[in-house]
Amino acid sequence: YDVYGAPVMADSGRLRGVTLVMHDITEQKKLEQVRKDFVANVSHELKTPVTSIKGFAETLLDGAIDDPVLSKQFTEIIWKESDRLQMLIVDLLELSKIENAQFKLDLEDMSLKDITEDVFELVRGKAEEKGMHLHIQEQGSSVIEGDWQRLKQVVLNLVSNAISYTPSGGHVTVALKEQKDAVVLKVQDTGIGIDPKETLRIFERFYRVDRARSRNSGGTGLGLAIVKHLAEAHHAKIEVQSEEGKGTEFSLTFPKKQPSTL
Ligand code: ADP
Repeated sequence: YDVYGAPVMADSGRLRGVTLVMHDITEQKKLEQVRKDFVANVSHELKTPVTSIKGFAETLLDGAIDDPVLSKQFTEIIWKESDRLQMLIVDLLELSKIENAQFKLDLEDMSLKDITEDVFELVRGKAEEKGMHLHIQEQGSSVIEGDWQRLKQVVLNLVSNAISYTPSGGHVTVALKEQKDAVVLKVQDTGIGIDPKETLRIFERFYRVDRARSRNSGGTGLGLAIVKHLAEAHHAKIEVQSEEGKGTEFSLTFPKKQPSTL
């Protein structure tokens, strides 16, 4: 508690009592802590690739540049780390845009199946490299009112994760099912799964179940935080079901019409 006290004096000048004002600051403190943790995490995530880029550039300048094998190897690392830095900055900007009070969806009627097909085009290269199989299932119409670009981001993040966290040769399925007033989109994989204890935390910014493995998967740690924000902006419900070693299913239930436009 924040406590302020002030004496209350009688006309005679004698002390009559004390007024105490107490504010419950636990909630405020928690938010402040979340903000501090976020800044610390961002700094750490930015520092790691920058340190590596700087180190390898220095080594090149110190002479490694004359060795064709080393110079190729180091330049590749510099490229990879810059790429990582760029993804991180793009995701951070995206998150800050979404969290802005002025953030608005650009709504239109569109099909989640079309979005999934677009996303599969984007990830096809990565999927083929790993020998992964991509499938779409549709029951009824998958047309909802939503923001095309944002929903594409949602499906892309979920499908990219499904590919990243599934061993070579596995399957990723996007299943779409019409309900009375909603459409359910499921992204299923046959991957490593998530410990049930972790399923709530994975939506936190920079939270990863296995830091080392996730970093190697090329993600920024912000993907699911972005998914959660954008799904909530569309009044969608998110559920996760997972079994370790078997696979994971993210399920998003979208209303067909956004409440604001009913
Ligand atoms: P990242 O960039 O690390 O993938 P995300 O926010 O997209 O960050 O995901 C957070 C964490 O949730 C991941 O690091 C991973 O541990 C876990 N995760 C997400 N999707 C899956 C999945 N389909 N299968 C297993 N684990 C997953």
